[in-house]
Amino acid sequence: MPSPKRAGPLPSVDEVLRVETGRIAVARFGHAATVSAVRAGIGQLRAAPVASGSDRPDRAAIALAIASVALQALEAADVPRLRRVFNLTGTVLHTNLGRAVLPEVAITAASTAMRHPAALEFDLASGGRGERDSIVRGLVCELTGAEDAIVVNNNAAAVFLLLNALAAGRETIVSRGELIEIGGAFRIPEIMARAGTRLVEVGTTNRTHLNDYAGAIGPSTALLMKVHTSNYRIEGFTKEVTARDLAPLAREKNIPLVDDLGSGTLVDLTRYGLVRERTVQDALSEGTDLVTFSGDKLLGGPQAGFIVGRRDLVQLCAKNPIKRAVRLDKVRLAALEATLRLYRNPDTLAETLPTLRFFTRKPPDLLELAQRLVPALSLRLPAFAVTPRACASQIGSGALPTETIPSVGLAIEPREKKTSGRRIEALATAFRGLPIPVIGRIDKGALLLDLRCLDDEAGFIGQLGALALPSD
Ligand SMILES: *Cc1c(COP(=O)(O)O)cnc(C)c1O
Repeated sequence: MPSPKRAGPLPSVDEVLRVETGRIAVARFGHAATVSAVRAGIGQLRAAPVASGSDRPDRAAIALAIASVALQALEAADVPRLRRVFNLTGTVLHTNLGRAVLPEVAITAASTAMRHPAALEFDLASGGRGERDSIVRGLVCELTGAEDAIVVNNNAAAVFLLLNALAAGRETIVSRGELIEIGGAFRIPEIMARAGTRLVEVGTTNRTHLNDYAGAIGPSTALLMKVHTSNYRIEGFTKEVTARDLAPLAREKNIPLVDDLGSGTLVDLTRYGLVRERTVQDALSEGTDLVTFSGDKLLGGPQAGFIVGRRDLVQLCAKNPIKRAVRLDKVRLAALEATLRLYRNPDTLAETLPTLRFFTRKPPDLLELAQRLVPALSLRLPAFAVTPRACASQIGSGALPTETIPSVGLAIEPREKKTSGRRIEALATAFRGLPIPVIGRIDKGALLLDLRCLDDEAGFIGQLGALALPSD
């Protein structure tokens, strides 16, 4: 809004607060915030040129203009920073877009937990104190075959807690091929240093043998650790010692074997037509003593981290003071419990768990969806060609990093090729500027909207009118 020209003396703050728009602003945003917004508005006007002659606005008109400017500023500052978006990037578990979308049952459970008191650490049978981890322990053990389980804030916290509880002041042996960086600042060597354990690297980047581990074991060895190479794959002349091969050595030396699975899945994904990923059950049955994994990657629940396996070791983690600093709150615990419960019926999981529903959507269905969307988009974007395009979705969050899933997207490209690079960027910006921002990706000269994760077709189409097109 252009700032209004001012007449001689400006209205006072009180005068502005008394006009109707001012009163609305006070009712919605409170007296203090409105006063400062009005002061800012008056300040802007003071700097504006003084109008002359017959178009001099009167004092009431200026008060109204200031109130409107103030209300707009208050509204703009009130837009939530955490915005819902359409994830049409093709990466289903997109870390920067919040990873898993939660199942309805989890949403219901979480809102109940938010709205009411809950028996979080309260034993309803005895009326005495209960234990937070007992809420999901039974389910986790049933689903994974583990003896015991605890949950914490995320998998990074699970790994940190485990290393501190079981290996502080002593050594942890890891293969050089598994010294991963997950992103952010999560690097295994640094996490180890912070957790107070000394990293002992064995093998080489591409090849590690059983006798490398055996040779490194000494009186200070606390753990043998395996780390899932979540976001890369070493191929070619390689040798990895599997947990199955490492377990007998760990037994013989009486040193716990732990495995950071990263994503961690509870079901055999081939059952849903996906590539096989080692499950938590696999890791435990191969002789791993403790397994850590995330709640919001392949599992499809809220952000959380699990430590599951041998009871004595799990309990050492549970009793470590860091556990208290990284424990889960009741809201996420409620959502996690509801999500885990869905796994008791794997037959319906592809419908009940959004993450799996997205993974299993078939290209012919996505093509149909694409064709339904073309007319509305073409109408709105006459200067662009909108066509369905075969593409490849990714799982994301470091799960199955080299696997893709055949998908279908909408490719939007300028009909006029001359300045196409800039115009595609501008179009992507316009989509991100929608009331519910649409995030796509740029692919082979087009803005590509991968439709795998589009759930709300009506919501997507309904807001296209608000698309602020790049000017031609
Ligand atoms: C993702 C990942 C982590 C971190 O898990 P968060 O739940 O994001 O904290 C740790 N280790 C591995 C191997 C991972 O893939």
